[in-house]
Amino acid sequence: MIICDTHCDTLYNLATRPGSPLDVTMENLVKGGVSLQTLAMYVGKGRQGDVEALFAEMFRQMELLEAAGWRRVDDPSQAVDGQVSVMLSIEGCEPFDKGLQVVEEYRCRGVRMAAVTWNHENTLAYPALSGDTRGLKPYGLEAVRLMQKIGIAVDVSHLNDAGVWEILEKCGLPPMASHSNCRALVNHPRNLSDDLLRAIFEKGGYVGVNFWPTIVGEPATIDRIIDHIAHMYDLGGEGKVGFGSDFDGIERKPEGLNNPADFPNLLSALRRRGFAEKDVESIAGQGLLAYYRRIAV
Ligand SMILES: [Zn+2]
Repeated sequence: MIICDTHCDTLYNLATRPGSPLDVTMENLVKGGVSLQTLAMYVGKGRQGDVEALFAEMFRQMELLEAAGWRRVDDPSQAVDGQVSVMLSIEGCEPFDKGLQVVEEYRCRGVRMAAVTWNHENTLAYPALSGDTRGLKPYGLEAVRLMQKIGIAVDVSHLNDAGVWEILEKCGLPPMASHSNCRALVNHPRNLSDDLLRAIFEKGGYVGVNFWPTIVGEPATIDRIIDHIAHMYDLGGEGKVGFGSDFDGIERKPEGLNNPADFPNLLSALRRRGFAEKDVESIAGQGLLAYYRRIAV
C-alpha cells in the first residue's frame, strides 16, 4: 500500500542540529512502509537574517541524503509501493521575498509544495498565529498564482483564514493544508474551521492531518487523530484527507505514534473504526496522488 506523509522538519534538523536524533530515518521509513515522505525546508524561528544560507544548507542536506542512496522524486505519481521516496517542500515562503524568479528556481530544483507562511509575517501574507485578519499581500497573490501555474502545490497550513479564503476565491487550482486539523474539535488558530474545510474539499483540495498533540487534542491518541479524519470526511473530505505527521518538528507524540515506523498502527486503527479498505488506501496515500493529478499543469 502506498503511504504518504506531507510534512516533516527533518531537513531543518539536519541543517541546524547535526547529529541530533531524528524520527524520520530511512530505517523508520522502511519499517513503516512509507512510500512518499515530503521533506520540508523550514524557515525556522528568528532566522530571517540568513534565510538564503539556511535554505542553501537544506538543499545541500537533501543532496547528501541522495548521495547516501535516498530516492528523490518530483511528483507523487513516481512513488512506488515497497520503496521509500522523498519529495521537497518549503514551510514559510521567505525565500520568495527576493522575487518571483526564486519561485521558478525552486520549482526547477524539485520543490512541489510550499506553505505560504510559517508563524511570521512575510512579503506574501500573514500567519494564523498573528491574529491579523488581512488577506494576501498583492505580491503574495502574484506568487501563489505563479506557484499554481508551474506546479507547486499551495500549502495553507499556518496561513491566516483571510489568506486561505482569498486563495480559494481568486486562484484557479485548489490549495492543500499539509499539516492541519479541525478547529471544531480543537479550537486552535493552526486548525481549520468547518467552513474552510468544506470550501477546500469542495474545490478539490487536500488536508494532511497533523500529529502534534496540541492540535490533535490532549491526551493525544491515535483515536483522536482519527476523530479529525472522520470529521473531515463528514465535511466532504472523502478521498481528500491523509497524513501530515510533523515528525521532527514536534517533541511530544501521540501515544503509539512515535515515528514513521508506527504508520501501520494508524492504518489498523482506521480499519477498527470502520473505514472501508478503499478509504484506508485513500487516506494512506492515494488521496494525495489524486490531489496532485487535480493540480497538474
Ligand atoms: Zn508547521
